[in-house]
Amino acid sequence: MSAPSAESDTRPIAAYVASLELMKISSLLPSNENRSTMVHTLARALGLFSKDFSPTRTIALVPPQSAGFTELNTYHTKEYLDFILDPQTVANGSDATKAEFGLRDDCPPFEGMSDYVRLVGGASLTAVKMLRQPRCDVAICWDGGRHHAQKAQAAGFCYVADCTLALMALRRLTQPSPSPTAGPTVARKMRTMYLDLDLHFSDGVSHAFHQTSTGSPHLLTFSIHHAAPGFFPVSPLAAQPTANTDPFTLSLPLCPGASNRTFARAWQCVERVREAFDPDYVVLQCGVDGLAGDPCAIFNWSLGPNEGSLGWCVGKVVNEWRGKKLLLGGGGYDSPNAARAWAYLTSVALGEPLSLDTPIPDHPYFPLYAPSFLLDVPAGNMQDQNSDDYLRAVEEAFDSVVATIGERIAK
Ligand SMILES: [Zn+2]
Repeated sequence: MSAPSAESDTRPIAAYVASLELMKISSLLPSNENRSTMVHTLARALGLFSKDFSPTRTIALVPPQSAGFTELNTYHTKEYLDFILDPQTVANGSDATKAEFGLRDDCPPFEGMSDYVRLVGGASLTAVKMLRQPRCDVAICWDGGRHHAQKAQAAGFCYVADCTLALMALRRLTQPSPSPTAGPTVARKMRTMYLDLDLHFSDGVSHAFHQTSTGSPHLLTFSIHHAAPGFFPVSPLAAQPTANTDPFTLSLPLCPGASNRTFARAWQCVERVREAFDPDYVVLQCGVDGLAGDPCAIFNWSLGPNEGSLGWCVGKVVNEWRGKKLLLGGGGYDSPNAARAWAYLTSVALGEPLSLDTPIPDHPYFPLYAPSFLLDVPAGNMQDQNSDDYLRAVEEAFDSVVATIGERIAK
């Protein structure tokens, strides 16, 4: 089809946060070296950045603004930022100080770390700013999704809590401002749902917003993940809901081998929570370390397109749910598969899903897509250990959660 002229183009906009600088700095992340470059390079090679890619939604490439101290300080502590944002301080810091800020083991200090924190934090905040534009209903930041970072510590390969910062920015954005002339504000306060599809529990985000108040919170976090004794990150909040659970801090743990079939059933719980909560904004963390073939080798999830696949779930959120959506990245330790997944999810978000038989186009990283050289990330042979009994227990746990959300929201 021919592209409409700029003036008559009324297609909704999907903002895609990317720049050469972001790609270079994000590619230095020790746990995912060069992944960012592969992700954005494949997306471009597949033609996703073309204005004519989809008749239903148009893409806008948006360079990230680097986050300043004040923006990062809305969540992170001054002490953490004073340390991590100054390469000289880090270079001269003692092992004890580095340990205090989590900069050891899986989060070693690295060259470019302070720029990384500013730029990746700023990238997700740039995505939130784009959602303020009336025509922009989807924003994508695959370099974000660092859901383990804490207020005063790096953790689990995450140095900046961009998900939490984005949620806080959305909360500020959605506070109804009292009108001086119209009397009391009648519009309801906006609601934001954070949904996390990463293999690992979203401890950084869930802990940041966990509350036990009996009020009617306007932010709900929901993490679907693997949980088992000793599996990172260990947290009491990673377990399935009980009668005492804060219904706005939800977890749905799955057993090894979780496949499309299991996710299709788990998704019914997600849909029921979404219906009860009725969010105006959805922040979707799309970690891809649960896909088959990831070195974590816990789940056996596939990219698409069948019911229960990652692409199917993301398509439900982006194209069927009400409200505006922010899509973030996350884990994913097979870089070619992460690039495949996020390129495919970008096409889903644009309303024009690519065929999973699409050949990987010739581009500088082509040889790394051996042996299939196709877009698909198919399921493997792992046995799905999520029994019918287990999933029925999960469904029953969510029955009461959904009822409680409904009661609280009605207040
Ligand atoms: Zn993960």
